[in-house]
Amino acid sequence: SRPVLELVDLVAGYRQRRGAWGRRKEVRAVAGVNLTVYPGETVCLVGESGCGKSTVARSVVGLLEPFSGEVRFDGRDVRTLSAAERKRLRRDVQLVFQDPYASLNPTMTVYELLSEAWRIHPGLVAREDWDSEVASLLERVGLNPSHARRYPHQFSGGQRQRISIARALSVRPRLIVCDEAISALDVSIQAQILNLLAELQRELGVAYLFITHDLGVVRHFADRVAVMHLGTIVELGEVADLYERPAHPYTRALLSAVPSPEDWRSAETDEIVLRGDVPSPLDPPQGCRFHTRCWKAQDRCRVDEPRLVDRDTDHPVACHFPLEALASSAAD
Ligand code: SF4
Ligand code: MG
Repeated sequence: SRPVLELVDLVAGYRQRRGAWGRRKEVRAVAGVNLTVYPGETVCLVGESGCGKSTVARSVVGLLEPFSGEVRFDGRDVRTLSAAERKRLRRDVQLVFQDPYASLNPTMTVYELLSEAWRIHPGLVAREDWDSEVASLLERVGLNPSHARRYPHQFSGGQRQRISIARALSVRPRLIVCDEAISALDVSIQAQILNLLAELQRELGVAYLFITHDLGVVRHFADRVAVMHLGTIVELGEVADLYERPAHPYTRALLSAVPSPEDWRSAETDEIVLRGDVPSPLDPPQGCRFHTRCWKAQDRCRVDEPRLVDRDTDHPVACHFPLEALASSAAD
């Protein structure tokens, strides 16, 4: 089927003035990203803070105008859409943030928060059905429908995130972008929210672009994982493939920090501690953007930027010297 979302050579970020009279320089927090999300699919975008993940999220939902490249929805460049189509797009793509308290207006009741979009998009839910629709949304996300007249501060953090999800669902979106949506929650609440999202996906067919710094949490949630480093995707694959055969040194380093009960004996899973700080997108390293921290770096890496190319069919990696599978060393 056709992707619901396609990012084509996306370059985005902000402009920074150099000195009082200097020209404003483009800071490319996202430096050429290609990514697709299919209907009903969960694609996780994983990387350290500052790697450009949120810039991708903001570009996808239209909060940020990219420097170049395209955001395509249903195969169409969003810049070519008519006003009516843009309005429709604001329904079809929803964003759930890390901090639900900051994104939920504290002066509005849950009822008002969930029905707000129905004023903007008349025809979505008829006025006489609002009560029952609010109740069914709350039930769907595991909240008590009788609490619809309460305010956000009367709920716990996990419950507030459920309200954010219900609000996103209120417009029947096709894609929900979750930007660190569970990062502020306790581990047990994180699992509950992930289960909820997975269940909603099975029922409603919604797709997720799930953005996180934590590879551990997405293992049982993602269909595909894209690993992002300093503005570019360095590896992309089906979740099982990526976890079992990480080919990029950065992916291997991230995975080595994820405790896993199955491979605690394997020497290969010893945590790889990356040296140095994450370089700045203001002044990214020449050649491979990871070479200043990579223990596999060779001369070529300092001059020649690796492209994301097919390694096998569905598992491209941007590295001149991709790693071999983990499994071989564990077997002997
Ligand atoms: Fe490391 Fe070189 Fe691969 Fe970059 S291209 S990740 S520096 S081995
Ligand atoms: Mg899925």
